[in-house]
Amino acid sequence: MKSRWNNHEAQSYREKYAAFDEDLALRIYTSHLIGREPSLVLHGGGNTSVKSTARNILGEEFPVIYVKGSGWNLDTIEPAGFPGLDLRYLRKLRIVDNMSDEVMVNELRTHLLNASSPTPSVETLLHAFLNAKFVDHSHADAILTLTNQLQGMELIADALSGLYPVLDYVMPGFLLSKQAAELAEQHPEAPGLVLHKHGLFTYAEMAQESYERHIYAVTQAEQAVQALKKRSFTIPSHAHTSEKSGDLLSAFALELRRALTAHDPAHRNWLIRYENSERTQVATHTDCPVDAFDSGPLTPDHIIRTKEKPLVLRTDEPSGIPTPAELEVSLKQYVEGYAQYFEHNVTRTGRILTMLDPLPRVVILPGVGVFFIGATVQDIGIVGDITSHTFRVKANGASIGKYEALTQDHLFDMEYWSLEQAKLGKQAEKALQRKAALVTGAAGAIGSAIVEALLADGACVVGVDLPGEQLGRLEMTHRRNPAFLAVACDVTKREAVSQALAKCVLSFGGLDILILNAGIAYSKSLEHIPFEQWQRVFDINLNGYFHFLQAAIPAFKAQGSGGSVIINSSKNVFDPGKEFAAYSASKAACAQLGKVAALELADIGVRVNMINADGVFTHGEVPSGLWREIGPDRAKARGMTVEELPEFYRQRNLLKVLITAQDVAKAVLFFARQETPTTGATFPVDGGIPGAFPR
Ligand code: ZN
Repeated sequence: MKSRWNNHEAQSYREKYAAFDEDLALRIYTSHLIGREPSLVLHGGGNTSVKSTARNILGEEFPVIYVKGSGWNLDTIEPAGFPGLDLRYLRKLRIVDNMSDEVMVNELRTHLLNASSPTPSVETLLHAFLNAKFVDHSHADAILTLTNQLQGMELIADALSGLYPVLDYVMPGFLLSKQAAELAEQHPEAPGLVLHKHGLFTYAEMAQESYERHIYAVTQAEQAVQALKKRSFTIPSHAHTSEKSGDLLSAFALELRRALTAHDPAHRNWLIRYENSERTQVATHTDCPVDAFDSGPLTPDHIIRTKEKPLVLRTDEPSGIPTPAELEVSLKQYVEGYAQYFEHNVTRTGRILTMLDPLPRVVILPGVGVFFIGATVQDIGIVGDITSHTFRVKANGASIGKYEALTQDHLFDMEYWSLEQAKLGKQAEKALQRKAALVTGAAGAIGSAIVEALLADGACVVGVDLPGEQLGRLEMTHRRNPAFLAVACDVTKREAVSQALAKCVLSFGGLDILILNAGIAYSKSLEHIPFEQWQRVFDINLNGYFHFLQAAIPAFKAQGSGGSVIINSSKNVFDPGKEFAAYSASKAACAQLGKVAALELADIGVRVNMINADGVFTHGEVPSGLWREIGPDRAKARGMTVEELPEFYRQRNLLKVLITAQDVAKAVLFFARQETPTTGATFPVDGGIPGAFPR
């Protein structure tokens, strides 16, 4: 690993943060350098600090420590992420024999310089008890590759030529802080410490030196791993082309989702993402024995993200994809194993605890790929990143000896540590969290408003539309949101429809909410409609709905957790317009299709409802494609200009309102959230048009 320290860049940090303590400016700089290196820290892992002085309101100067606050990541941390604390007071705490985590957090919070700061890292006292000015802590992959071995303490000590003393595993908290500080004092010349099966601390008077001591130790560890390697596991070239059929994979994902819900004591839905990429193939496509990955986490704080172990699914099926019965047996074993682990540790510790969900977060199918599981796509992203690093470390571990994780007892203490649980946050889930939705016609005015509303309500959304500028714009709008996926698809092509559905299943685990919204219109008198135009309207407005609805039924059945189908029909269904036969007839057919679907799907808990909206012309920048196309003809039919149309539509309803795309989206949310036990219903969003009252 190379040092990324650069004097120019350091200077730019001094200038950027000139309003703050200079020590803090450099602290931010080297924290960013560490944070940018995923093989050092991932997602909130690791922490850094600097000791300095501050002045209180009375003008008195006193020593302080700035430590990474919880909720911040090292690669993006800012001054607000470094709560300052009264260092003199914290150091006095060393004379206390022991204190509970709750007391420790209270001591930290009551000695902050700023009462509204985030809670400082749980490793704050360790930083405070060390003498050096700058302290850097990471969970470096290379260090863990050596410590997490049968002879890990010797291996790491040798790799670092005895320069860095090694502390045997102690759970993070007050006792670890005291023991680490004692060890550091016994080795005053040491540039840092290794915490067995946990990570690396380095320290120095200068930011650059502390950081470079970190890089030095990691480099030494990397070289030792290379030298100790007896073999290496490379990904064979055929791995890249060995993709299993999408149908088999999505059938398995749906089955997995059903089984997870069934084994979740709260019977919730889970999101699942399939991955078969270079970073996962070391575990699924090399000759590294799969047992190497069937083991505990690299560093204790990963357990709250990944659970103790992945679920490895072995099968004799030539496809490598287990049968539903095999999945059930293995998952049941996993869940029962978790319950035993919980019971054993409750007895051991005598604590009164509530069991967390017993489900795996990582499912490995050798030769096929990996399924990541979570309550949100953000959780899945974190699990994926941590797991892919874990795979690499474990493969390296297997190539030099035998990987050895922390004991289950230690891991349990960490998993059920109140401070660790606090990191996960306990905010209430959003109404549509854990749900996967698919919207057709997603790039249009109404579609894009529906996509926004579903995302805001916590759903994962696949937005389907024809390829082109509008779909590109929708993709751009949500490009930073991992809960959104744009899929180009012609709804009239069955093959394209099943591919879009498979993408939804493999990206998010299934399908809970299907919104059929793609539609076109054509305005011409009955006498003059060319048959091709008639057919085209039916192909999109009716057959497109039929293809998606039919393709979705097996998915709804396989998941076994019900669902919602929401059909954007039209005010036209009850109140057709002249010179509008193709549109009106196709929409009426859709409404009838929806009612039959409500009859047939109620048994599997799927509700089907219709929304009848009237004239929506735009959504923000997005014009309605339908109105752009038929506006001139509709205006002509009514003897007015295109510009006069919105006002005409406003005046014709009882409430004299202009119907917006958000209005339609609100109705969609009402059905998607399943607010009332309703199916087969029609919900008008038209401002009140007596001729279109449902009947
Ligand atoms: Zn740590």
